[in-house]
Amino acid sequence: MKLIKDIWFKRRDIVSEGFDESLEYISKLIPLKIHKISSGTKCWTWKVPEKWGIKEGYIEDLKGNRLLDLKDHPLHVLSYSLPVNKVVSKEELMKHLHTDPKRPGAISFKFKYYERDWGFCIQHNKLKKFTKDKYKVFIGSKFEKGALKVGDFTIKGKSNEIIVVVAHLCHPAMANDDLSGVSVLVDVAKKLKKKNNYYTYKFLLLPETIGSIAYLSQNEDIIPKMKCGIFLEMLGNGNIHALQLSRQGSTRLDRVAEYIMKKKLDNFRKGLFRKVVCNDEMVFNGPGLDIPMISISRYPYPEYHTSDDNLKIISEKKLVESRDLVLEILDIMDSDYIPKRKFKGPVFLSGYGLWVDWQENPKLSENIEQIMLRLEGDKSVFDIAEELDMDYREVRSYLDGFYKNNLIEKKNGSFKN
Ligand SMILES: [Zn+2]
Repeated sequence: MKLIKDIWFKRRDIVSEGFDESLEYISKLIPLKIHKISSGTKCWTWKVPEKWGIKEGYIEDLKGNRLLDLKDHPLHVLSYSLPVNKVVSKEELMKHLHTDPKRPGAISFKFKYYERDWGFCIQHNKLKKFTKDKYKVFIGSKFEKGALKVGDFTIKGKSNEIIVVVAHLCHPAMANDDLSGVSVLVDVAKKLKKKNNYYTYKFLLLPETIGSIAYLSQNEDIIPKMKCGIFLEMLGNGNIHALQLSRQGSTRLDRVAEYIMKKKLDNFRKGLFRKVVCNDEMVFNGPGLDIPMISISRYPYPEYHTSDDNLKIISEKKLVESRDLVLEILDIMDSDYIPKRKFKGPVFLSGYGLWVDWQENPKLSENIEQIMLRLEGDKSVFDIAEELDMDYREVRSYLDGFYKNNLIEKKNGSFKN
């Protein structure tokens, strides 16, 4: 919550001072390695844009009355707007004024990163104030050579295989999209840093789409090491969780996420790849890479991409719920193993202290034989828990008892997606 409060109002455009300052702020919470990719660098079919900045922007009538001023809200000028300084007719001005009629009291968030144009964003219900024929428009934006930055926090595990967690950081002066995802990511990273992990975890903070493309195109050697990933955003609003499946749709991560959501949440919705919400999974899980990437959000919400996406709609309780969900998913991914039978015939449970009283734990007692029949080395603990609709930790701790008695061997992480 503090992170969101401290940096939500910054102008974090894709390559900008506000973006760099936000990364710097976060690097005090988790130690980030900052990758820099210069403006103009060719990245597969894309090119890194110039750094964009703005200090001043306004619309006045010819008597000098201001109808819009950037000082009132960073969203008032279109992201990556060209500079402009001229008198225009009302008709021309209207072509460059962006509003959201569905939310007439809010300023809409609009960007034109790659088409060169100038423009302002304004509350729809303020349009009626434009009654004159001519206006002075001024946008003091600056384009210069800079560097796109990607924040990378990596926690080495026993395995070189990487689980990647991604959030974008390029939405100016809004809170839920995208800082709620960033804050959950930071908290998950802090928690995992204290653990002894099997997988290597890579947490990436980047500008949407171009950040993923720039980072991955300049670090192609890392792509085959990435086992799967989670994209996080829009987690502070009041809506239920939405799980967007990976392109593959039924990988281990897809199944674990759905299993945890069913167990922990009263309600959630599930959708196919790119059918819930569109973010950087199109790069990671896209053509030529195909790293399975699920997305967890609370999309949709009515304040989306407007100035109403501010601190008022963020609930700390929701952020905590989402963080715990991600931690549970990663806990299963990380601690799962394949138990392989070393015994013959049904195990003499009482002799090994593995007998379970049906009155004390009917579900486990009832399923012991079913568990014992699934130890041929083709199923993981999670597979067994999922199949028998049991609690993963309970199955794991029961099978750990088999392991301590030398009745099974453990194979870690050797399962495929
Ligand atoms: Zn967005």
